[in-house]
Amino acid sequence: MSLTRIAETVLADLESQGLLRRPREVSGPQRPRMVVDGQHVLCMCSNNYLGLAGHPVLASAIREGLEQEGSGSGASRQISGNMSAHRRAEAALAGFVGQEAAAFFSTGYTANIGALQGLATRDDVIFSDELNHASLIDGARLSRARVVIYRHADAQDLADKLAEHRTLGRHALIVTESLFSMDGDHAPLVDLLAIARRHDAALVVDEAHALGVDGPRGAGLCAQLGILPDVTIGTIGKSFGLQGAFVSAAAPVVDLVRNRARTFVFSTAPSPAVVHAAPAAVRLVAEAEGLRASLRRNFRRLRAGLAELGYEVLPGESAIIPVMIGDPEPTMATSQALFERGVFVHGVRPPTVPAGTGRLRLIPMATHTDAEISEALGAFAEVRR
Ligand code: PMP
Repeated sequence: MSLTRIAETVLADLESQGLLRRPREVSGPQRPRMVVDGQHVLCMCSNNYLGLAGHPVLASAIREGLEQEGSGSGASRQISGNMSAHRRAEAALAGFVGQEAAAFFSTGYTANIGALQGLATRDDVIFSDELNHASLIDGARLSRARVVIYRHADAQDLADKLAEHRTLGRHALIVTESLFSMDGDHAPLVDLLAIARRHDAALVVDEAHALGVDGPRGAGLCAQLGILPDVTIGTIGKSFGLQGAFVSAAAPVVDLVRNRARTFVFSTAPSPAVVHAAPAAVRLVAEAEGLRASLRRNFRRLRAGLAELGYEVLPGESAIIPVMIGDPEPTMATSQALFERGVFVHGVRPPTVPAGTGRLRLIPMATHTDAEISEALGAFAEVRR
């Protein structure tokens, strides 16, 4: 069978299960009101939490970076050297989360893969939350370490599993997101760190969705709780309005990642023009108390309004609002019905979430007005009827 025929068959099969992905077409920047598939809609599904993607300060920092260091980095940093944009971004980001050093990656996906594959080997064991992001799952696989899955956000289950399986590996990593990307709930980070210390394990925390949003100056959930994990991973593609990510830790740990992470060693470094804007983004985010307050107001109103309308919303104190639907087809039909009423909200299906837990993942931005939040709730009310 030709590859084309194979592809057509698999795609038809996905379509029959309601699992085919066909992203909509967006014109213009990510912001509260956008033109999507030619229609004016409210965007309620972007991780641009603070509304900084397209901010003029970032645009001018990128232009400055372009003039000073050009558009491309030419090669992996192991080959053509550390450019000053990358070095400055790493210092700013490590300082932001209170770690000693950081390594900058092109995306959060490659940072997570690089961190786990770089820090664990086939002689080690990784304890991983069952709802961890795909990139953490893939990094654990690539490391060839033994992997033990513990129940979602369940510190007791983790403690039990460590007591039973810690000896599977010479070194142990406990890996979790701080704010979970699909459920919008929080890991019990204080307990996880205490358990890590008790069992001679290191705690690795992916703060992708919490940085910029939670904690003093937006420094994340660990900062909010007054703890410092062994490794903090963050992305700057969400609240920071740019693209890229970092793995931060004590300097020798970061050096090990730089030496061993295949997604760092064998990949062209990200564009210095964009990376040059990272310190400016850190400053904007740190000073964005007003935006964080607006985001909180928006997500609280949406959560309360949706519950009042009778939607099943997973509980949580975050801007990630999972509206549970169930099977793929009704999930996508609800998303479509909302789109026809002017609200762009993405339907999430397996394999991103477990079978039977299809949902709309509603995310407001800090820059949505009260009127826009009411408008979104109005569309949800109509669809409910
Ligand atoms: N970690 C988490 C928890 C995520 O949700 C995502 C993707 N949104 C990533 C990492 C990957 O980050 P990036 O989008 O920068 O590749």
